[in-house]
Amino acid sequence: MRLKTIKLAGFKSFVDPTSAHFPTNLSAVVGPNGCGKSNIIDAVRWVMGESSAKNLRGENMTDVIFNGSTGRKPVGQASIELVFDNADGSLGGEYAQYAEISIKRVVTREARSDYFLNGTRCRRKDITDIFLGTGLGPRSYAIIEQGMISRLIESKPEELRVYIEEAAGISKYKERRRETENR
Ligand code: ATP
Ligand code: MG
Repeated sequence: MRLKTIKLAGFKSFVDPTSAHFPTNLSAVVGPNGCGKSNIIDAVRWVMGESSAKNLRGENMTDVIFNGSTGRKPVGQASIELVFDNADGSLGGEYAQYAEISIKRVVTREARSDYFLNGTRCRRKDITDIFLGTGLGPRSYAIIEQGMISRLIESKPEELRVYIEEAAGISKYKERRRETENR
């Protein structure tokens, strides 16, 4: 499974609809300070269900919506879509039949969040479930940012265990057990 395309609109500095394509297994985003590189990573995390504004370098969830600049008015909503290549069927189960998987999230100024899976509205949980056990997710080790290595090294055994369980692919079973026990 590989991230193929990211489509941004009204998200942080990306006010106009913009698409970025990642045609190979290794892509780099380069540019001057403040051009929006980290905003792209924030967008990836946000669409996968990140619910903490702080983790997206903001105060409130609606801070991800373009809030205006010199000569540009703020906009009313932000949307991000990620398109994954799943031709190898690595995202198995009910998703194996799809060569492409698109996930999308839209938020409005009223703080209403909607999620879409291959164009159909779904719950946040449907999105987070897809990535459980894949190593990808809003707070996964697939995204390594400033300070994370030292956080990992300094983490307590029980915190480290969360990463190891995700890498081993057992966190999704633990999550299902937790859900069942809470029913
Ligand atoms: P650096 O190389 O310094 O890490 P960067 O390319 O990672 O820079 P970002 O942090 O992605 O830059 O982008 C910062 C820019 O995004 C700032 O100019 C900031 O004003 C703008 N920005 C962030 N949130 C919003 C928003 N809600 N509306 C408009 N612009 C925003
Ligand atoms: Mg940055």
